[in-house]
Amino acid sequence: MKPDVYCSTLREGQGHADCFKALLQHVTPLLSAFGRGTFVGIKMTVGDEGSTGYIKPDVVRVLVEMLKEQGAKPFVFDTNVIYKGRRQNSVDHLNLAYGKGFTPDNLGCPYIIADSVFGTDSRTIKMDFHNVKEIKVPSLVNVLEDLIVLSHITGHIMSGFAGSVKNVAMGMASRAGKQIQHSSLKPVINTDVCTLCGTCMETCPVSVISEVSGKACIDSNLCIGCCECIAACKFDAVRINWQEDALIFAERMAEYACGILSLIKRKMFINFVFDVTEECDCIAGDDRRIVDDAGVLASKDILAVDKACYNLLTPAEDIFSRGGRIESHVHEFNYARKIGLGSTEYNLVGLD
Ligand code: SF4
Ligand code: SF4
Repeated sequence: MKPDVYCSTLREGQGHADCFKALLQHVTPLLSAFGRGTFVGIKMTVGDEGSTGYIKPDVVRVLVEMLKEQGAKPFVFDTNVIYKGRRQNSVDHLNLAYGKGFTPDNLGCPYIIADSVFGTDSRTIKMDFHNVKEIKVPSLVNVLEDLIVLSHITGHIMSGFAGSVKNVAMGMASRAGKQIQHSSLKPVINTDVCTLCGTCMETCPVSVISEVSGKACIDSNLCIGCCECIAACKFDAVRINWQEDALIFAERMAEYACGILSLIKRKMFINFVFDVTEECDCIAGDDRRIVDDAGVLASKDILAVDKACYNLLTPAEDIFSRGGRIESHVHEFNYARKIGLGSTEYNLVGLD
């Protein structure tokens, strides 16, 4: 049977929080699964320091209040990242979140970083996928029973399209788990184009880019595949093998999401099609919206809600493949369905 995907379309003059509230009032049977006394982890991200498209605290609070009214104990959480910036450790990460308004007062619940101060909390759990034989997740993910994932739909430099699957696969893995998912990516420098401006060297979180014969050069043995140099280079001099690397990356993400969700009993996925940008919230600097706001979609099926958002935004043109990006998201959808992550077919349920 096809899973239901509920959709609250943004009406003219309606705020994002009201659009979300309308959705939640419609999906109370789904929400009632998170009953009295349950510790409900709300996974979301505040994004990089300069990003602006992230889901705002007043929107998250709508969900928090509704869960508290039915006796649950919600908390918002995220994990540290592998690239440079203020989300590399919990102290800077929390201060960034507070600065963006994600304080307990504004949210109505605690905001925590799940993988410890330096991102070292990592449990290894055996899996048996084609690429991934074990996943590495913070201890919290190993004991969490109730999960609601809030995802901001964006483009993504590697996966093309980013929604709930990426939020779970990357955002709920420990830093070690994130590195493993990225490990197939091996960028190289096009020396014909490199101007030796040095930006990639400043950006690389593990300092493996150095000057060789007047050009930047990556030590591929030490590179962790985070892709920060690709985003940082304004001369398009950093390249990866898109055809091969991006597809393996997509498969690893699908496998990680599948493994993580197999640990958790009750889950729900909510995607926000507001402020859609070409790059994900981890990359600041280009905040141009690439499509009009559409609304909020929710489902118990992670793949169905991502596919519904993708279909909604690509009626004629695949906006997530612009600029020569390959359709790794299409491969991700198909591969994720094949390994049992969810369904790419669904019933779209409007609120009217
Ligand atoms: S950012 Fe680009 S142009 Fe600048 S040094 Fe690195 S590869 Fe070369
Ligand atoms: S070389 Fe590029 S992809 Fe590799 S670790 Fe450094 S920034 Fe990340």
